Amino acid sequence: MGGRRYVTGNWKMHTSRAEAVALASGVVAQLQQVPAWDPDVVRVGLAPPFPFLEAVRDAVAGHPVELVAQDCHAEPRGAFTGWVSAPMLASVGVRRVIVGHSERRQHAGEDDALVRRKLEAALEAGLDPVVCVGEQLAERDAGRHEAVVEAQARGALEGLDPAAYARVVVAYEPVWAIGTGRTATPEQAGTMHRFIGGLLASFGPQAAGVPVIYGGSVKPDNIDGLARQDGIAGALVGGASLEAGSFVQIVRGVAEQARAGARS
Ligand code: PEP
Repeated sequence: MGGRRYVTGNWKMHTSRAEAVALASGVVAQLQQVPAWDPDVVRVGLAPPFPFLEAVRDAVAGHPVELVAQDCHAEPRGAFTGWVSAPMLASVGVRRVIVGHSERRQHAGEDDALVRRKLEAALEAGLDPVVCVGEQLAERDAGRHEAVVEAQARGALEGLDPAAYARVVVAYEPVWAIGTGRTATPEQAGTMHRFIGGLLASFGPQAAGVPVIYGGSVKPDNIDGLARQDGIAGALVGGASLEAGSFVQIVRGVAEQARAGARS
């Protein structure tokens, strides 16, 4: 599989300011030891907690590492105590923003309509969205995973301005694999990625090119099998992104597969 890849570390509500700076500095230092990594082919992003965005931005300055935010509000400004808007994030150097993460769907009650509004707010502010979709364990056990993911992807992405698709990344994250240590098998993930790819293609030719990355207990020891699957264009990494060495090993895995794919 050709095309650009993405590896983003989602730090969630972890790290102190000092830890965030040390982690970001460790990532940029260790990335330089990965000969297979071409930053034009594999885009690496870090998504720290909001208060540490600028510190992390400064720690990675001059390196090809993108600053990513974990969420944004659907409105650009207003009486929304405690929230952060997309234009605010853009103003501090954020490049991409995650929308629709399952932890927000679960703990903040976000539905597909709100995810769509956040995605549009991100695009409007000049941020490129990373849209998360994924089924719960009960939905997979009931054989409903494709229907659930299809509804989420349609809600977020169907009928967008065709030019916007070039700015979108989709993250397939089966909820039962997030933070559980129980990752999808490469075959399960690959099957879903190809399903999502087919669905996106039905939204129009531009949408056919949207990269679909995998998230859910990605670790250095399972990334090779995942990244080898046709249709898996990288990883959204939670727990393993909190340690520079393991995160960079995941980048290495994706970079090596990208290189092997480009040769074949
Ligand atoms: C995530 O937060 O998006 C995630 C995939 O977490 P973890 O890698 O810890 O499962």
